[in-house]
Amino acid sequence: MEKGYAEGAEKIQEYLDQQDNIQLYIGITGEAGAGKSTFVNAFRGVDNRDEGAAPTGCVETTTVVTPYAHPNYPNVTLWDLPGIGTTKFPADKYLKHVEFEKFDFFIIISETRFTENDVKLAKEIQKMKKKFYFVRSKIDNDLNAAERSQRDFSVEKTLSAMRENCVQGLQKQGVPATVFLVSSFDLHLHDFPLLQQTLERELPAHKRDMLLLATPNINLEIINRKKKAFQAKIKYYACLSAAGAAVPIPGLSIAVDLGLLVNVAIKYAIGFRLDKPSLEKLAATSDVPLSDLMAVINSPLAAVKITKGLVVKVLSTCTIISLSMLAEEGLKFMPLLGIPVAATISFTTTYKCLSMFLNTFADDAQRVFKKALGLDTSV
Ligand code: GDP
Repeated sequence: MEKGYAEGAEKIQEYLDQQDNIQLYIGITGEAGAGKSTFVNAFRGVDNRDEGAAPTGCVETTTVVTPYAHPNYPNVTLWDLPGIGTTKFPADKYLKHVEFEKFDFFIIISETRFTENDVKLAKEIQKMKKKFYFVRSKIDNDLNAAERSQRDFSVEKTLSAMRENCVQGLQKQGVPATVFLVSSFDLHLHDFPLLQQTLERELPAHKRDMLLLATPNINLEIINRKKKAFQAKIKYYACLSAAGAAVPIPGLSIAVDLGLLVNVAIKYAIGFRLDKPSLEKLAATSDVPLSDLMAVINSPLAAVKITKGLVVKVLSTCTIISLSMLAEEGLKFMPLLGIPVAATISFTTTYKCLSMFLNTFADDAQRVFKKALGLDTSV
């Protein structure tokens, strides 16, 4: 193999490793009972009752800063921070106490209007050149209460009045900011999707995919964006495979780096929450039996331990025609990446296989999402 090409592959491996090791630290703050721990759990796809969940509903008496790593992305950590009122520190001391430097951004949660403490903290965070986002929690409670008490109740009207009220309150205290209305029991509703998009947009570019993949499948658009993020990396994996480790598979007219295919397929299963633990959690929280969720899944790589043997079995069932159709897109990258002709077969085969895995996983994720919400999965 040409030296330059091997060096190229090394650089690609370095880049992919770096991407996997990006740290994301999210600070969640707000007064005791505001819903911080519940938000931390919901974001991580963990039920409040699960082992490893941030304890909820308890009266906060300590000033402990507690990290909760994402179960699937241990580099993404949500930090349950004590309320500033609990610590009795002024805002600047509070930020020092929680070691603010390490956080990528802060989420300030309140279950009512934002207090003087929340505002002081926001101003101090801004002074430290960090970002903060206001989340008004427990929106489901407010909507239920409004529905019970208003004759001309409308969800939209109630939400926009609440948003207006919070924003005006903050403006009066000198902090013009957006307020996101969130129910941690239903992250797919209200403003959480908008909050997620905002966080992703305002993060430095190299951290965006990490946040995206760590986000639960809250809507079809997120699933599509995850697919695009994965898609953008396929050419790099194909290059790695072409760089050497590909071996012919007996009985199949292809040569691939099987270990690489297994590793990437596992990333897809986890990213789309189609691994067994994620599907079991979804079944428990959505009250849709696991067997019903499984019934809409086509990928033989979902909800199982992905092994080399299984990948070979899956590839042996694909027709060469379906694989060749996917090759076209892979070939577009060849001149761009300067791959020698000898490595072409391995590159295109890996590209085809991963594209096929990705398309199937992404379609499955869409159907599982719809099934969990009781929507029609045939469209
Ligand atoms: P923390 O003290 O700020 O960590 O607050 P917790 O997360 O422990 O929540 C306090 C209480 O509010 C618990 O009983 C939670 O179940 C409840 N809670 C938190 N978030 C929500 C929400 O979005 N909707 C509803 N209805 N209750 C919530």
